[in-house]
Amino acid sequence: MCGIIGVYNIPQAATLTYLGLYAQQHRGQESAGIVTHDGTSMKVHHAMGHVADVFSQETLAQLTGSQAIGHVRYSTAGESSIKNCQPIMVNYSHGSIAVGHNGNIVNAGVVKKRLVSEGSIFQSNSDTEIIIHLLAKSKQSDPVQRMKEILPQLEGAYSLVFLSKSRMIAARDPDGFRPLVIGKKDGGFVVCSETCALDLIGAEYIREVEPGEFVFFEGGKMTSHRFAPARMRKNHCIFEYVYFARPDSIVFDRNVYEIRKGFGAMLARENKVAADMVVPVPDSGVPAALGYAAESGIPFELGLVRNHYVGRTFIEPEQNIRHFGVKVKLNPVKKLMEGKRIILIDDSIVRGTTSQKMVKMVRDAGASEVHMRISSPPTKWPCFYGIDTPSRKELISAHKNVEDVRKFIQADSLSFLAVQGLYWFEKQKPNEWFCDACFTGNYPVAPELIDKTIRGKDLQRTEDGDLIVANLQ
Ligand code: AMP
Repeated sequence: MCGIIGVYNIPQAATLTYLGLYAQQHRGQESAGIVTHDGTSMKVHHAMGHVADVFSQETLAQLTGSQAIGHVRYSTAGESSIKNCQPIMVNYSHGSIAVGHNGNIVNAGVVKKRLVSEGSIFQSNSDTEIIIHLLAKSKQSDPVQRMKEILPQLEGAYSLVFLSKSRMIAARDPDGFRPLVIGKKDGGFVVCSETCALDLIGAEYIREVEPGEFVFFEGGKMTSHRFAPARMRKNHCIFEYVYFARPDSIVFDRNVYEIRKGFGAMLARENKVAADMVVPVPDSGVPAALGYAAESGIPFELGLVRNHYVGRTFIEPEQNIRHFGVKVKLNPVKKLMEGKRIILIDDSIVRGTTSQKMVKMVRDAGASEVHMRISSPPTKWPCFYGIDTPSRKELISAHKNVEDVRKFIQADSLSFLAVQGLYWFEKQKPNEWFCDACFTGNYPVAPELIDKTIRGKDLQRTEDGDLIVANLQ
């Protein structure tokens, strides 16, 4: 997963971009980068690491201009290395251009093969570089027509921000898998993945970039264009609501915190259990646990306390004194939990190891019963659209039923939210749709358009028209 931001026509654009990336650090922690244009030249700085480590006062001072784009990366396509850092910046026949991408282009392999056979030379193995090559090869002299030519060639998930000498462009795939919003500030504009970035830099939220839309920021103005017709059926990623986005953000026009509280309330309605307190796994389970507690009337307690200062600089001790393990990050409030029946809440189970550790921690703290409740359905299918969900082999719920997962995590009981429970909010917007392929296996992109070799899986259409990963039942 990744986070992107673009700042147009605002002084000290690099500093605002830096702050916007800082707010979106949760979307990617492997690398960070900023590209600026000051009307004369384009400048770039990127490196592996967190935003605060990658940039200094000195590097920001060198990134001059009122236009900037930035990117934080968590690799889901292409390896984690400096050559895959974004934004990618190149010089081509129309001048310099930079691009930042959030999502996964699912036909990247096919497009790349064609481009290579036509003579293109690739420098990275990220799917984003194909966009640059498509731009460079375009014969269209008009930049709007260029976008209309290249964007429909991409399939899958892409929220994009481009920067060139005279303009910034934001674009979003026709399914609208990943978020992308527009804000305004001081006569200029900001586009970013999540509104928490707008909040930090004091920009006012205007609206989302619509699926299938691209927006030009040029000559001080914003103009909207389409490369694909508006669809009744969008495919927003439900996992943004479950886990990925920050709870203070507005994503797909809804506040994430409220949505997560609703998941917790639905979970309480679906699965009643007698207990003394509701305890979240911090921070991921907190909003759902609040919703669960409110709905069930069982008190909410912060039974697990998180050390917020565990960072990359933590020195891993020798194996023989490593037994403290997960306690570096989380520690139980023993006094609170001794002899109590605990409902432990987290947002998801992927491999199952986190829940197993959490259940053990709560039991070791003296709890008499531990009932694990998960505010999403069992994660059974890998994501091809930008969330780093591992292959089916590693997804515990792809191979074990709920009872066997319960045994694995050693809880007294375990329940997940039902798929219908996710859509408690749906009635507000009846025509909207979500991609929940990670829970259901219903992949929304036509199989002929998706790389057969994506993550080594074979995709097939079922009789009723759903796209599934074949041979892995
Ligand atoms: P696991 O131990 O593999 O079952 O991971 C479950 C934990 O990871 C939960 O606490 C989730 O909040 C968190 N999680 C879920 N999805 C992701 C993801 N894509 N990247 C990182 N953490 C995740």
